[in-house]
Amino acid sequence: MASSFLFCRNFWSRRVKAIEMAELKNVVDSKSAVAHDLAKALGPHGVLFDEDVSGRSAGIWRNDNIRAQVLARPLNTDEVVTALTICHRHDQRVVTHGGLTGLVEGAITSESDVIISLERMNQIEAISPLERTMVVQAGVPLQVIQETAAEHGLMFPLDLGARGSCTIGGNISTNAGGNRVIRYGMTRDMVLGLEAVLVDGTVVSSMNQMIKNNAGYDLKQLFIGTEGTLGIVTRAVLRCREEVTSQPTAIVGIEHFEQLVQFLKSADKGLKGNLSAFEVMWNDYYRLVTTPPARQRPPLSSDYGFYVLVEAMGADEVTFQAMLQTAMEEGQIEDAVLAQSESQRQSIWALRDDVEQVFQFAPTMWFDVSLRIPFMESYVDDVYTRLATSFDQVKIFSLGHMGDGNLHFAVAAGDDSEETRRKVETCVYEPLKEIGGSVSAEHGVGLEKKPYLGLVRDENEIGLMRSLKHALDPKGLLNPGKIFEMK
Ligand SMILES: Cc1cc2nc3c(=O)[nH]c(=O)nc-3n(C[C@H](O)[C@H](O)[C@H](O)COP(=O)(O)OP(=O)(O)OC[C@H]3O[C@@H](n4cnc5c(N)ncnc54)[C@H](O)[C@@H]3O)c2cc1C
Repeated sequence: MASSFLFCRNFWSRRVKAIEMAELKNVVDSKSAVAHDLAKALGPHGVLFDEDVSGRSAGIWRNDNIRAQVLARPLNTDEVVTALTICHRHDQRVVTHGGLTGLVEGAITSESDVIISLERMNQIEAISPLERTMVVQAGVPLQVIQETAAEHGLMFPLDLGARGSCTIGGNISTNAGGNRVIRYGMTRDMVLGLEAVLVDGTVVSSMNQMIKNNAGYDLKQLFIGTEGTLGIVTRAVLRCREEVTSQPTAIVGIEHFEQLVQFLKSADKGLKGNLSAFEVMWNDYYRLVTTPPARQRPPLSSDYGFYVLVEAMGADEVTFQAMLQTAMEEGQIEDAVLAQSESQRQSIWALRDDVEQVFQFAPTMWFDVSLRIPFMESYVDDVYTRLATSFDQVKIFSLGHMGDGNLHFAVAAGDDSEETRRKVETCVYEPLKEIGGSVSAEHGVGLEKKPYLGLVRDENEIGLMRSLKHALDPKGLLNPGKIFEMK
């Protein structure tokens, strides 16, 4: 009985496969040679065409859909190798897709491109609570990694608003920062090793599991923050930390910028190394996220110039309260609300994370810049003045990971024509040159910031980036045109 059941099951699964292959053949017959080869190699579940591709959104916060001749969905590293080898043989341009939450047009494609999406490479392969490491495939969503770490008494420190949709491969490729950089660093600091596939299908397996390893070049760095231009990240070894059992969090109101700077220093000192987030919201942003239709209500008066979300993972309540008390006595902060429960803690974070409220004023442009803290106040004043002078009606909302010198602006200037965008970008980016700032703190360059790379990186730096690109991808097939032109 069992064997005849098995026979039937095998028969039907072979039959379904044969039908799927025949259907695929019909679709592929009218396609290019590269599409043909990819379909043959990866099978019906490994490739998508036509409306299965064009029906997908091109990314979070975007209004357009994906354009590409084929979207390949490899299941493992071997299939990524197969797909890249085929594309390389055909001189085919390839763009890698993670969760499509990137904000700088880094994953944008044209009709003739092939997309390699890591969506089916979503397995957590191993976790070692003892060594505090996790081995993952590149398509695992960040939130799944955070939750899996917690189930094993660990913590993966990377955290950002797009945690539910973004993938670890995308986080690595953009060297994502997020909310806890001040304590744990950027994604770069949480990756012990990785595996990447080069454009010709060569696998570079740098799956180091140790914290220290200075045996030659640290090759993983070639693929961290290079936005899929040098290789496809397929797997990674992540560095977790012990789970924290306390996470005191408060929101404070501050009148003047110089108090903010003093408070950052005294909070860091008073918390004895436990400061894990110092997120600043300007008054304009605070009012936006505490006024209907926003769901949160203001925990503090709406009249302060600045609001800071302070969090200290691992600190005890007594130390945290003492730090706030000292800051109050020394005149650095005006008022504070300390979260008394996990749900209050989440409500405070919800204010910071509710960035989508800016879409009430769509079209909006979103900026991510970096600069030294001493220049921050005058820089922000300068940007506001430039924008107000350039546009009759402009709305600006500001917030940022201030402890890291990272500011975000959402700017609504009435329309998002090319001309308006360029004008707004000039107001935001131009003043950074003189003060040694950066046009990208954490989002990367993609296509969006490409025209401004030369403002903050010199000729020799960009020349070396080009040399690396030529060495690893001489035909310029991987994520072409992103970050800089190859020349
Ligand atoms: C609400 C929201 C909040 C955010 N907050 C932050 C924040 O606090 N800090 C921060 O740094 N960023 C933030 N971001 C942007 C951030 O870059 C992304 O959320 C995330 O890191 C990108 O991951 P992804 O999987 O969506 O990548 P995608 O958007 O799919 O891709 C991003 C880039 O990486 C490349 N890529 C993707 N996967 C791979 C791979 N496996 N191998 C090679 N290349 C690959 C793509 O080609 C593209 O160039 C935020 C975005 C949103 C929407």
